[in-house]
Amino acid sequence: MSDIGSLDALVQALRRLPGVGVKSAQRIAFHLLQHDRAGARELSQALAMAAQQVQHCQRCHTFTESAVCATCLDERRDVSRLCVVETPADQAAMERTGAFSGLYFVLMGRLSPLDGVGPRDIGVQQLLERAGDGVVQEVILATSFTAEGEATAHALAEALKRRGVQVTRLARGVPVGSELEYVDLGTIAHALADRR
Ligand SMILES: [Zn+2]
Repeated sequence: MSDIGSLDALVQALRRLPGVGVKSAQRIAFHLLQHDRAGARELSQALAMAAQQVQHCQRCHTFTESAVCATCLDERRDVSRLCVVETPADQAAMERTGAFSGLYFVLMGRLSPLDGVGPRDIGVQQLLERAGDGVVQEVILATSFTAEGEATAHALAEALKRRGVQVTRLARGVPVGSELEYVDLGTIAHALADRR
């Protein structure tokens, strides 16, 4: 296959996607080249643009194209409440409930010792500094209800309480094992209202 090195390179690159093995990568590559060249160009341009433009908000760590994201800059938000979520997708789910008007801290992951994800990788130090700034009155832990999400919430709660910060956790009602992103909005809103 040495005469089509660019096809091999494409298949190798597609294998970087989560859950995509060799066969899926080949299928996607063949589909794009055989049936959707325009889509392939659009995809490559969107990827290049996003990889170049998207960065992390200096305050909440979510994805943004500016130094500080629009949510953090929104003066109508309640700065005394800080909601800790794992991903921008979880943040979006929380936003869609319309039940939370505070600000966010996005971990961009969760503690996972087996995968080598430690406190530094999820910005624990920045979170502690942020929560201890005197403005934040309550930190709401909205990590997922998976084993790792619970362990992350527990570790964060301990560290925050040691610093005298009031900490609450989304109430049960969110099904055990769930990623916030996939939970229906009414359930999230209830879990937020019943936090303790
Ligand atoms: Zn932000």
